[in-house]
Parts: sequence; structure tokens; C-alpha cells
Amino acid sequence: MSYVDEVLERVIAQNPAQPEFHQAAKEVLESLRPVIEANEAEYRRDALLERLTTPERQLLFRVPWVDDKGQVHVNNGYRVQFNSAIGPYKGGLRFHPSVNLSIIKFLGFEQVFKNSLTGLPIGGGKGGADFDPKGRSDREVMAFCQSFMQELYRHIGADTDVPAGDIGVGGREIGYLYGTYKRITGLYEGVLTGKGLTYGGSLARTQATGYGLVYFAEEMLRANGTSLKDKTVAVSGAGNVAIYAIEKAQQLGAKPVTCTDSNGWIYDPDGIDVALLKEVKEVKRARLTEYAAQKPGAVYHEGKGVWTTKCDVAMPCATQNELNLDDAKALKANGCMAVCEGANMPTTLEATQYIQANGMLFSPGKASNAGGVATSALEMSQNSERLSWTFEEVDVKLQSIMANIFRSADAAAKKYGMDGNYVAGANIAGFLKVAEAMKAQGIV
Ligand code: NDP
Repeated sequence: MSYVDEVLERVIAQNPAQPEFHQAAKEVLESLRPVIEANEAEYRRDALLERLTTPERQLLFRVPWVDDKGQVHVNNGYRVQFNSAIGPYKGGLRFHPSVNLSIIKFLGFEQVFKNSLTGLPIGGGKGGADFDPKGRSDREVMAFCQSFMQELYRHIGADTDVPAGDIGVGGREIGYLYGTYKRITGLYEGVLTGKGLTYGGSLARTQATGYGLVYFAEEMLRANGTSLKDKTVAVSGAGNVAIYAIEKAQQLGAKPVTCTDSNGWIYDPDGIDVALLKEVKEVKRARLTEYAAQKPGAVYHEGKGVWTTKCDVAMPCATQNELNLDDAKALKANGCMAVCEGANMPTTLEATQYIQANGMLFSPGKASNAGGVATSALEMSQNSERLSWTFEEVDVKLQSIMANIFRSADAAAKKYGMDGNYVAGANIAGFLKVAEAMKAQGIV
């Protein structure tokens, strides 16, 4: 049996009932086959893939908190410190009822390669809790964040592990988490990113993942003889990534016509009104029905179906496995030419394979959504320097990082005979740097 197959079997045997983690490991290791096979004896001797697929540390903890009525709740907290070969662990925290160890491990594993691809010195980790901030008062969210940090603080630090936001963790939650860390440790340090601008946050961090996605998409389209100008774009999600992807796509002359939340989706033939979307989602924290109620011409559809929209480019920006094989077929039938992932692993493996086999361009999230973590690393640099860079300075760096990520993935795909396969290219480019660093540091 090949080394890759052996390790995939081991991942499944040693991590039962973790389908998302199996899926991520399979997607990455399958695409690394040519590189692994070229160095099989050495990698096998060093158990490199076993070490790569086993987190350095997994923390599971109880998070008790009291709601506004005096009821005590208990949630499960997680932090998986996956790989620190190239820098301190870096990766977001997700608060969503679906969170479990499998999801945190898949996200942490992907983060290792994504962070490597940015070219910045950051290792990979991920964390979160099965807490649902939706419908909770600010006081309840604060109570939860304070309890979560009362355990997490002992495992993180500006030079060891620097969490950030993700689904359900935005500026409000980062603020409460940071305040508690500072109170317990007495340290005013860059231990979290995505902070508010008054206490160490970076300009352009809020926009970075969505803007970065669009910068990457533009690079990929240009390398394939076209651009986003005048393209119709279908976007899913209505959170941080989706909102700023829509905003930047409009700035580059495209027309995003959809967005979604977990209840349903909007089709707005005139193009999404970003100011209204921000008002509904960022200020009122309301549902998308509110958008349709305020925007003449926009139609609200209950449930799924966003990928049946006629579009040139699809940008899934909500959550994992939200675009399946049937969705990919519907996109193809409607003339879609490119799928650019804004979320982490939003496309199922079968859908990805179908898209690639049917002449559509495909950018994997670990490359095209890396602008968020890259800008988080820029926030860490500013915190260390005790300086704040302007929006333009950060944005220029972000554009250059996204262009470099595209070039690295493109070059690696070409080098290993898989021209245009940006999944393989991103995995290979990300892997080689981490593997080299692990080798240099010995068996640890
Ligand atoms: P937000 O919480 O801001 O928004 C998430 C959006 O997706 C919301 O509209 C939410 O709808 C929807 N959504 C979440 N879960 C589900 C679900 N199970 N089914 C259907 N819809 C769902 O998160 P972000 O925008 O920050 O993150 C979106 C994706 O991008 C995630 O995969 C995340 O890991 C990834 N990502 C985020 C980065 C960042 O910087 N924020 C960086 C890199 C990747 P509702 O409001 O109804 O819950």
C-alpha cells in the first residue's frame, strides 16, 4: 500500500466519527501524492505524514455560564494547536451549535497549509465552542466569552498561539475575550487579532478575507484571459466574508446578485445593496427577510437553492459542504465559469472533482480566503511594533500577498504537471514549506 493510503487509513482509524477531518485529510493528501511519492522513503522513515495529521496539542474544556434569567448553561470549548513548525499557532475561534472536535480539527489542519501559503511566519490552529450567540443578549455573550477565556488564557500568548474570529466570533466577541485575557494576565499584548481599532486592531482586517478573495479571483481570471468586470456573481453567506466580497467585487465592476443566511437567500437582480446588507446584518443583526422587505425588486427564497442562480462566478462564503454535486451541475448548466471559495471547504469533494473535470476554474479556500489570516499576521506585526499602519498600507500588502499566493499555487501545479489545478498547487506549495521546517527541527 502506498504511504499516502496507509496514512489516510490511520487517520480514519485513529479519529473515528470525525468525517470533516477525514475529508480534509483526504483532499490534502490525495493532492500531495506526486510530491510524497517522489520522496516516499524519507517521509516514511520520518513519519512525516503521521506527524502532519496529528495535532501537536488538543484542548477540550468546560465552559459554564449564566444566562439573563439565572439559568446555568454548559458548553464545550476547543482549541486545537495543530502545527507550529513555521510560527506560533494562528487560526480563528468559531462559536456555532454545530462545532465539534471533527470540525475544529478539519479547520486546524487546513489552516496549517493556508498559513504557510501566505508566506508569513504563522503556524496553524483553530478553536471554538458549540455556543450559539444568535438570540443572546450582549450580557449573555459577554458572560460566555469571559468563561471561555478563563480557561483558554493559560494556553495562548502573543508568541505561542494567537486566535482570531470566525463564524459567530466578530468584533464584539473578540473585545470581550481580549478584555478578559488582559484582566487575568495583566498583559496588553497582541494575543488576539480582529481587535477593535481603539485597542490594537488593524485597519482593513474586517474587510480582508472578502477583499482578499476577490483579489485572488481577479488574479486567477486574469491568468485565464478574463476578469471580474461585468461578471454576474452568486455569493452565499451574509457574514463577514460575504459582505466584503460583495463590496470589493462591485468595486471591480462585477455584479453580485445573491447572498444567504441559514434560513434562506436573496436574489437581487439589480445587484446587492451593500449598505443595506451591512445595516441588516452588522447593525441590526437581523435576518435576510429584512433586506427583502426594504429593497424593491429583491426576492427572498426560503431554504437552499442559491446555486441555481444564473451566474458567471460563484463565491461560496458561508460554511463547509454548502455546495454539493447537484449544485455544481446546476452552476455548470447555467454557464458558470469559476467557483472561488471564500468559506473553508464549502465545496464537497465530489463537487470539486466535477467542477475541475468540467472546465470550470476552481480556487480552494485555503488559497483564496487566506487574506484574513494574512492580515491578522499584519496585525500581529503592528502590535509588536506598537504602530498602526494606514488602510492603504495594509490593503496594498494584502493585494500583494494574494497575488503571491496565486503565483505560488499556479507555479506548484505547473511544476508537478497539473496546470490549472489550484487545489493541488495550493496544497503542494503550502506543504513543502512546512515539511522543510519540520525536517530542519528534528523529530518533535
Ligand atoms: P459569519 O458568522 O460572519 O457569517 C457566516 C454566514 O454564513 C452567515 O450568513 C451565516 O448565516 C451563514 N452560515 C453559517 N453557518 C451556516 C450553516 N450551517 N448553514 C447555512 N448558513 C450558515 O462568518 P464568516 O463570514 O467570518 O465566515 C464564513 C466562512 O468563511 C467560514 O467557513 C469561515 O471559516 C471562513 N473564513 C472566515 C474568515 C474570516 O476572516 N472571517 C477567514 C477565512 C475563512 P446565519 O447568520 O443564519 O448564521
